[in-house]
This record gives sequence, C-alpha cells and structure tokens, in this order.
Amino acid sequence: MGLLAEGTPLDWPEAKKVAGHVREWGIEQLLAIWRKAKGKERDALLWGDEIEYLVVTFDDEEHNVKLSLRQADILRALASDEKLLKQGGGVPELARGNVKPGKTAPTFHPEFGRFMLEATPGAPWGIGFKDLLDVERDMKWRRQIANDHMYSSEFPITMTTFPLLGDRKSITPWYPPSGDKLRSQFVPDEIANPHIRFPTLAANIRARRGRKVELNVPVFHDEKTARPWKDPTVNYDLHQWPEDDDVRNGAAKDDCIYMDAMAFGMGSCCLQITFQAMNIEEGRKMYDQLSPLGPILLALTAATPIYKGFLADTDVRWNQISAAVDDRTPEELGEKPLKNDRWRMPKSRYASNSTYISQDPRLRPEYLDPDLIVDEDIKARLVDGGMDDALATHFAHLFIRDPIVVFDEDLKDLDLDKTDHFENLQSTNWQHIRFKPPPPANDIGWRVEVRPMEIQITDFENAAFSVFMVLMTRAILSFDLNFYLPIPRTTENMETAHRRDAVLNDKFYFRKDPLPKRQAKLNGASNPPSGANTPQQQPSRPPSPFGPVEDEYELMTVDEIVNGKGDGGFPGLIPLVESYLDSMNVDVETRCELAQYLALIKGRANGTLWTAAKWIRHYVRGHEGYKMDSVVSEGVTYDLVKAVERMTVHEGRDGFAREMLGECRERG
Ligand code: GLU
Ligand code: MG
Repeated sequence: MGLLAEGTPLDWPEAKKVAGHVREWGIEQLLAIWRKAKGKERDALLWGDEIEYLVVTFDDEEHNVKLSLRQADILRALASDEKLLKQGGGVPELARGNVKPGKTAPTFHPEFGRFMLEATPGAPWGIGFKDLLDVERDMKWRRQIANDHMYSSEFPITMTTFPLLGDRKSITPWYPPSGDKLRSQFVPDEIANPHIRFPTLAANIRARRGRKVELNVPVFHDEKTARPWKDPTVNYDLHQWPEDDDVRNGAAKDDCIYMDAMAFGMGSCCLQITFQAMNIEEGRKMYDQLSPLGPILLALTAATPIYKGFLADTDVRWNQISAAVDDRTPEELGEKPLKNDRWRMPKSRYASNSTYISQDPRLRPEYLDPDLIVDEDIKARLVDGGMDDALATHFAHLFIRDPIVVFDEDLKDLDLDKTDHFENLQSTNWQHIRFKPPPPANDIGWRVEVRPMEIQITDFENAAFSVFMVLMTRAILSFDLNFYLPIPRTTENMETAHRRDAVLNDKFYFRKDPLPKRQAKLNGASNPPSGANTPQQQPSRPPSPFGPVEDEYELMTVDEIVNGKGDGGFPGLIPLVESYLDSMNVDVETRCELAQYLALIKGRANGTLWTAAKWIRHYVRGHEGYKMDSVVSEGVTYDLVKAVERMTVHEGRDGFAREMLGECRERG
C-alpha cells in the first residue's frame, strides 16, 4: 500500500497548488532511476507474494462476529516478539537474521483498513521448483504467527470483504460514523489506519472529487427482493457535513447497494504476486503479456458476493475499489464541460491497464488504447531525457493524475537519490499490472506486480494461484508466448469478470494463437530451453501478423482459455504450463505436488470446483436465517465467517466445502 512517509500532509486545496511541482520532481527522479537502472541485469527471476487479511473477532455466546480495529496493537506485538525478529521476521524495519526463502520468518505490514494486515515472505522466492512447494507452508506460517499475536477471540481471515462492513455496528471498538475525513454515513474515520497518509488520502480524494466517493453495487434480486429495491440504510438523517446531501442529490441508485467511503474498496483484500525480471526488457515483456490474463484471473478468483449486509449481483471487488478511490472531478468524468480541468479521463486511478510497454516487434500499434490520455509535456521531458516512446507514454499516462498526499517537508529540495515524488504518483495508480523500477541504492531489479486476484479463503488456494502465476510467467518467457490483445478488449473483459459466475457463463476476448511463429524462432528470439518439449508449433507463418487485428482474437470461455479448446484451437494456459514443466525435467515428487495446485485452477475453470463467490452465495441462500430477500443478517454472517474459519483450518480435509476445495488433501 505504499511507503509510510512521515510529515505534515497538505489539505486538498494546498496539495493541488503544488501538484505540478510534485509531478515535475517525480519525473526527474524517474529519469534518474531509469538512467541508473536501465542496464541493470539480475540473474535470477525472484518473486514474492502478498496476502491481505481481515482481523475478525467472534463472540460465540452472542453469536456475532465483528471487525477488530486492532491492527496497530497486533503489529506492535509482532514488532516486539524477539524470537520472531531473530528469525528475520516480524516487521520489516526491525527484522534481522539470515535471509533464506521459506526459512526466514515472514514480515507483516499495515494496510488501509484498521482491521487489515498484510503479510509477505521474509525473503523473496527463488527460481527453483522446490521453492514453489514451500509457499503454502510459508502462508500457513504467516497466518499462524498473525493469529499468535491476536486475542484468542480474534482470527485472521482471508475473505475479500467483511460481509457487514458499513452496517454501523460490526466494528470493535465501536466509533460513530461521520468523521471529518471520510464523512461517511456508514463508517467512522477510525475504520482507516490512523497513519496520517491514509485519512489524508481518503479526505483529499473526496475533496478533489468535490463530493464523497460513490459505490453503487447492483443488488442480487432474490425471490423476495423488492423491485425496484432501495437500499434501506441510506436514510440516516445526518446533518453535519455538506456531503450529507449527496444521497439527496441522487448518489444512491435504485437496485444498488450504496456505499460512500474509501474503506468500502480499500478495505478489501487481494493476493498479489511480484516478479523481478532479469532486466528491463524482460520486465516490459512480462508487463505486456500478463495484462490480458488479468480479467481471467479476476474471474477465476471471484470471492466478493456480499456488501454491507446484502447479496450483490457481482462476484468481484475490482470496480468497487475503483469507485472507492475515484478522485475525478465532474469535468474529468464528462459530467460537465471541460473548463478548469485538463482532460476527460475514462478510468479511475484504480483500473485495468491502459498501456503496453514492451519493445516486442509483435506489439502492433492497433493493440494500443486509442483513448489513452497522456501529459504531453511530461512525455516530452522523458523523451528528451533519453527514454523511448513506449515507456515515456506509459509514465506520462500515469502522471495525468494529481498527487493526493503531499508532505510539506518534501517540497524543499529535490533529492535525485530518492524516489518519493515518483512513488507518490506511481503508488496511487493502482492498475491491474504495475511496472516497478528498481528502488535506489539496493540490489533489487525491475519488477512487475500482478494485482487483480481476489484473496482466497485458504492458504492452499492462495498458494495454488501463486504457483500457477509463477509457472505461467515462466512459460510465457520460455516459449515466448504472445497474448497481445487490443487494450480496450481487456478493459471490456474486466467488466465481464464482474458478472455473477462469469467464470462459467461468460466469454472473454482472448488471443487465438499464443505460440510464437516459426520465423520468430529462427530469429533466435524465442528458443525454449534446450531439451524443451514445446507445445506443437503451427505451420510456418509470416514473422509479424498483417491481417486484421480482429482476426487474431475471439470470445472464449474461461474453461477454453485455461484448459484449452481441444479442437486444435487455443492450447490452454494449463497445458502450456504442463508443456513448460515437461521441458524442465521436474522430479516426479515435485511434479505431483505442483499438480495438486494446477488441479485447483483447472477445476475452477471447468466448473467442477466452485469459486468462493459461488460457495458463499450458496451458503447464505441455504441458511435457515436467510429470507430470500438479499439481506445477509448478523446471524448468517456469524455462521458464514465461522464456516470460513473452519475451511481455513481444515481445508476440506473434514469433508467441508469440497465443492470449492476439491478432494481431501493430506499434506500441508
Ligand atoms: N487491497 C487492494 C486490492 O484488493 C490492494 C492494495 C495494495 O495495493 O496493496 O486490490
Ligand atoms: Mg496490500
């Protein structure tokens, strides 16, 4: 969630005045890093994963569950655990000891919600296949450590969103809503991490936008849900802030669950994977090739069917976070003619990618987003500074945004050995794939962060998706796979991924033929490792495609994309991964263990295994306390979160939730 700098943050009107200044310095810092690091070579493809948790507290006597706002206490307890620190874990600032993947204790980090925690492995994972087998154990270790530093009534769960967030009751300790920063009808300012960055971020997004953020999630119409359905919770009569008029001015839409604060989005949890590339070129290629996979990953990991105590008609968190940090003004949104603002912006700061950045000859100009907004002055400065057009365009696109949190102290001198101004813009551009330059003064290389996946309930599933992504990335690089798709199709796919059960019922645009052409191979650009048993090559074709771009892709189900079309068409992501494993002489035992993870992905895609979204819906609708009216009550939520805890602990070994987790697993 970005670095937690200290200082005196500027309120919005003041921050706006210095926005150009911050951007200018950010670009100079970027040029400095780029000049220093553009030739940087790392020999190992390191990677890391991030797990975000909700901390809940159960009251078994009262039969209720609440969010616990004890993030700071828990992090403090972790930071003072001597044994953990000696094992290299705890909190990153204090951790010490030898760094070894899987052996060094994990580290914990704050997140936006005061009820959230984030945990990462103590050391990056390496290139070896054995490391892949340690991931799940490490994830379990993380959850165990987190749990050991909580009250006995508390538990770190990995649901994307807490089903009752915003019901004005289910937080402990309790605070009244409607604080100065968020001005939410539903949640207090205390819902956010108290570090000054977070409330300032929320307040300045609201102020820049000129009204509160607006999340309207379509409600799931069940048998007894009214039509039109009006969110019964919006009528609280508050009169403290001008924003209390938002609802009266039409902010809450019919048939939608209405939410009004950053916490409703950034209070959601995801699973992220970051890859370190060998060099900038490889990083740029990974960024491009992983981008079309984003919506597929989102649909496969769908886990968010409930908001604010109501069943939603969507399955994933993405658009809700997007709306929760949408700082666009009415002019930028196209609601008013452009007068004071510089341009209309089709997307929020949290959105799917709009650029490709590789220098790959297969990148046709037709794939690029025709609506891309770029700050031409910034682009000119970058090009002037020696950066090529594609990369300069990417950053000049990110820099169309204003910095939201600006610390007064940072505006005095420009330090080119730091990246604070660059990171200010970079880390508040939450796109589904992020291209990350090396941090100054250390050994880390160019990185690509994969951000769309929803967190999964069990560590088995989180490990499975992490392992799948690692193997997929290696297959992409090893076979020089080509998933290029016009950017607007990925934007549409991202919308499609929101639909209920999109993983089974919807189709996504996807490239028909991902295999490199014979000619490209002869050029030496794509030789798989020696001995590689490559997927069957297509007959010879021209080196670069000249036909209409529309002929290169078609609509496919997630099953076809993941498991293959079976008619000689799209080979399938899993078969590609299998071919990669075949080419690598993986020992039988490791291969068997990896197969368990890949089986989960296959099952999710072909519908034999349910997504968490489907499982949760099914559970709620089958609960005796549910009245078929879309309302998820406190009692139902308590049982649901208990069921989630049970799954986390037993992972289906007790026969529970097999629909989602698959056959009983004996290891782990
Ligand atoms: N929790 C956010 C999400 O679900 C991501 C926050 C972060 O970038 O760490 O996408
Ligand atoms: Mg995070």
